[in-house]
Amino acid sequence: MSVVEKLVNWLGRTVEFAMTGRSEYQFTTSEFQTARTIDGSVQARMAMDELVEDLDTWFQIKLAWPVFLELKHPPGIGWKASLYHTEGNMGRYTPQELGERRGHEVLVAPGLPRPRFRSILAHELVHAYQHEKKILTKNIALREGMARWVEYHVLSRAGAHEEARRLLKIKHYMFGKAIKSVLEHEKNHGLEKTLAWLHEQD
Ligand SMILES: [Zn+2]
Repeated sequence: MSVVEKLVNWLGRTVEFAMTGRSEYQFTTSEFQTARTIDGSVQARMAMDELVEDLDTWFQIKLAWPVFLELKHPPGIGWKASLYHTEGNMGRYTPQELGERRGHEVLVAPGLPRPRFRSILAHELVHAYQHEKKILTKNIALREGMARWVEYHVLSRAGAHEEARRLLKIKHYMFGKAIKSVLEHEKNHGLEKTLAWLHEQD
């Protein structure tokens, strides 16, 4: 790698971190160092089946359309992608609607520690749910806030409190504060009413 290439890479990471508050190079904290990682499609599928049940139990979030999960780095790595994809490029959701055949395409980066895999996947499955139920179609800040809120809970329930708290600190020019307004609502009204409130939003 040339000096210029190294500098460009470093700049990209620095800008990405400044924009989103995280970069893929900043992910694994001490909490995850002993957790096993999700490296294969069978492992990923099993972890997803378990998570799908948890999302139903904890948040009454249930999908009717099939989910096509791929263990793959989302395309467009770098700070430009992070302008549009606030999850820091570890996951990506794309609706699939080909005539009558409808489904959810989800990409999650391979090799993530299991709690991080679950939280990123949960975030993307919330976007899938929002798309299916046509909720939060206009309020993009709250759409992102809801996904991060669920991500936060999935991490907290796994005991990854340090990682969960990091989510609250993510800076983003547009979405940074949305998770806090959802958590605030939950603090004042409880989880069930918060879910109902989110469903009522445009
Ligand atoms: Zn998102």
